[in-house]
Amino acid sequence: METNQEYRVLLYYNYVHIEDPEAFAAEHLKYCNELGLKGRILVAEEGINGTVSGTVEQTNAYMEHMHADSRFEDMTFKVDAHDKHAFKKMHVRPRNELVTLRLEDDINPLETTGKYLEPKEFYEALQDEDTIVLDARNDYEYDLGHFRGAIRPDIKTFRELPEWVQENKEMLEDKKIVTYCTGGIRCEKFSGWLKDEGFDDVGQLHGGIVTYGKDPEVQGELWDGQLYVFDERISVPVNQKEHVIIGKDYFDGEPCERYVNCANPECNRQMLASEENEHKYLRGCTHECRVTPRNLYVKEHDLSTEEVKARLAAIGETLPETTTV
Ligand SMILES: [Zn+2]
Repeated sequence: METNQEYRVLLYYNYVHIEDPEAFAAEHLKYCNELGLKGRILVAEEGINGTVSGTVEQTNAYMEHMHADSRFEDMTFKVDAHDKHAFKKMHVRPRNELVTLRLEDDINPLETTGKYLEPKEFYEALQDEDTIVLDARNDYEYDLGHFRGAIRPDIKTFRELPEWVQENKEMLEDKKIVTYCTGGIRCEKFSGWLKDEGFDDVGQLHGGIVTYGKDPEVQGELWDGQLYVFDERISVPVNQKEHVIIGKDYFDGEPCERYVNCANPECNRQMLASEENEHKYLRGCTHECRVTPRNLYVKEHDLSTEEVKARLAAIGETLPETTTV
């Protein structure tokens, strides 16, 4: 029986040439299913990027299998303990590229990339006045947690980063720049692109935030908040020495680290909200999202029209006359 079995979540990537991503993906999916893994793996001509969950036995078998392939023999796996699967299904998808930066000329990180900073070196860079630390993730990831003093580019998604850099060139000129992301894959390209743009002194956190949090020496120090992860765990701790909450409740600005999606399926916005505010605002990010007939919160809680009206009245809103839920 699998009741007391220990599970693991693996996070990994490797920039290496894969001849036929589609054939590779089909075969790899078959192998992962046979093994009993769940997760999400992207395969492109430029390499592989995956996060999978499984029992200790299954994940060990997977790592051995990958390391036996010369293309992946040096691939680093970041391993987290967990008590169950972190995904519902197993997907392996062929893609044109592993990360999207909307570049005219794509970057090959095997040729151009920033210098690798180990956790201790990155920890020192964080405290160096002449170094600019750039968060190379999406805005909602930054909002849940980030390195103390890191710059949050004013963008919604990682893809817009090159454009943001071009618009803020003056701030970055003649500075040392270091970048970081979850596991390191985004920075491989982004730091390479920065070098291509003419920035000389560019570094990247080797192995990303995940590796930094596990490093026995720095133990995640100078990280505030939680790390957003792309599986059912949603967030994981990084700083083993102290826990500063920096996430703010979308509705009232109070400290919060609880993620929910807007109940309007057409919106689906990710926001931090307490349980109390989720109920109070029918998990809708705007009035429109609260009163849409498709509101999932109303369905999940089987609320009557009268109940919805009462909730709305409590926050000074009314249900449009024509709407029934
Ligand atoms: Zn919404």
